[in-house]
Amino acid sequence: MPVNQKNQQPKPTLLHRVLSVLIKAAVLLALLFIFDKLLPSISQQTQSFVVAKWQQLSLLQQELPTEDSLPSPLPEQRLTDTWGAARSQGRTHEGIDIFAPRGTPVQSTTQGIVSKVGENTLGGRVVVVVGPGGAGHYYAHLEDYADISPNDWVGAGDIIGYVGDSGNAKGTPPHVHYGIYISGSAVNPYPLLQKD
Ligand SMILES: [Zn+2]
Repeated sequence: MPVNQKNQQPKPTLLHRVLSVLIKAAVLLALLFIFDKLLPSISQQTQSFVVAKWQQLSLLQQELPTEDSLPSPLPEQRLTDTWGAARSQGRTHEGIDIFAPRGTPVQSTTQGIVSKVGENTLGGRVVVVVGPGGAGHYYAHLEDYADISPNDWVGAGDIIGYVGDSGNAKGTPPHVHYGIYISGSAVNPYPLLQKD
């Protein structure tokens, strides 16, 4: 069979075979390393991303807060309706102030996703939680934050920070400024809070 013999590949040398085995082993080790080190973290990231999106969607589908439905951010303190009071530079008060001793824990009035933990000029140290129906819950003049970060999930009653006088409240009696924003507009939180 001379024709078939002509088509046969030349036999690989010993060196070629050894190199080929070494290269295959190296590729296999590299793949094992990638599967072991990279894939679990990618799938974990994907999992928490999916969970976060699911939580956001279910939050948006929940009812907006109704009258007398929300627990107070400071349950031991008296509530007064200070919505609409005059403020500097022609502004009106877009929330209510609840006074309490410095350092009193401030509780989230709803479940939701933390969207801001940081400072602004007027509010000082502020926390924003996006709650049912996509309403934004704004807690300002905090002395300090609880151990929370943006995108964390909080439940109603979870501590989000501590009463203070930061921002433009500096030097006034410590209080939390609580605001609720629905579709970007401030609404009066007072009627929505539970009164006893
Ligand atoms: Zn205020």
